[in-house]
Amino acid sequence: MTLLDGKQTSNEIKDELAVEVELFVKSGGKQPHLAAILVGNDGASKTYVNAKVKACDKVGFKSTLVKLEDTTSQSELLSEVEKLNNNPDVDGFIVQLPLPSHIDEQAVLEAIHPEKDVDGFHPVNVGKMALGLDGFLPATPYGILQLLERYKVETEGKTCVVVGRSHIVGSPMSILLSQNKYPGNCTVTLAHSRTRNLAKLCANADMLIVALGKPKFITQDMVKEGAIIVDVGITRVSALDTVSGYRLHGDVDFENVAEKCSFITPVPGGVGPMTIVSLLKNTLKATRHKGAEVIT
Ligand code: NDP
Repeated sequence: MTLLDGKQTSNEIKDELAVEVELFVKSGGKQPHLAAILVGNDGASKTYVNAKVKACDKVGFKSTLVKLEDTTSQSELLSEVEKLNNNPDVDGFIVQLPLPSHIDEQAVLEAIHPEKDVDGFHPVNVGKMALGLDGFLPATPYGILQLLERYKVETEGKTCVVVGRSHIVGSPMSILLSQNKYPGNCTVTLAHSRTRNLAKLCANADMLIVALGKPKFITQDMVKEGAIIVDVGITRVSALDTVSGYRLHGDVDFENVAEKCSFITPVPGGVGPMTIVSLLKNTLKATRHKGAEVIT
């Protein structure tokens, strides 16, 4: 079994990005600038945003964190989005999800200018992704593709079950892995809560991408011998013996499943850090794209 080590791989990619940014800036390019809007006080969201800001420092990006109260109205949030859309120094930005329930998430995502949408959630970028055109790939699926690529995991002709059909992970992942490129060329089944015989479907699959948010949902009997497993799930489970008071659990029962796999991601240290580097890569792409527009 080979561990798909997202922590190590993401550190390697960050080192490469730092060199690329230094060269880019030395040759007259603009320092990339990523901004993030955080609404409210959700502990997990704060952790993710802080990790993104820290990653910016590591690769030589400028970063801005816009913190808003959880009572912020939709129109106030939309006006912050508009400010970032119009700020020429900001190359890309994200709105950390989930948003408080009184805010229409889709309306906010659609308000982000597609050329600054480094999370890849705007319909323009989703459409480009689906058509295989150049745009911003959604950060988590992009991170998974990079991890598979770095470990040279063979995907062609494999059967793949993606569990979970969210717009940010499962659905785009199913599209990307079915495309005629590497990593891809899989025969994909997209499973969800209404799927019948999920255990059997999974047990017959060469590859599982699991993103449903239910700790240890995928058990040993649901896994084929030699399968490739990517566990996207991250759930905080209360653990009084830890300083934080919780432990992070994936959607896969790692201890019992790992021995059966050819490749598997750990949680934490698998997909999570790869999501962050993908965001950085998208931001650098946005900066370069803007520079190219100025030159031409
Ligand atoms: P959502 O919570 O939006 O959706 C969950 C999906 O799982 C839905 O499609 C749902 O089906 C499906 N589902 C729920 N129960 C079952 C079941 N019993 N059998 C089959 N399918 C089921 O998913 P997200 O993609 O936003 O998040 C999934 C997990 O990934 C979470 O733990 C999240 O924290 C984590 N995550 C991790 C990231 C990272 O960087 N590592 C990034 C993003 C998410 P239905 O549509 O029918 O309701």
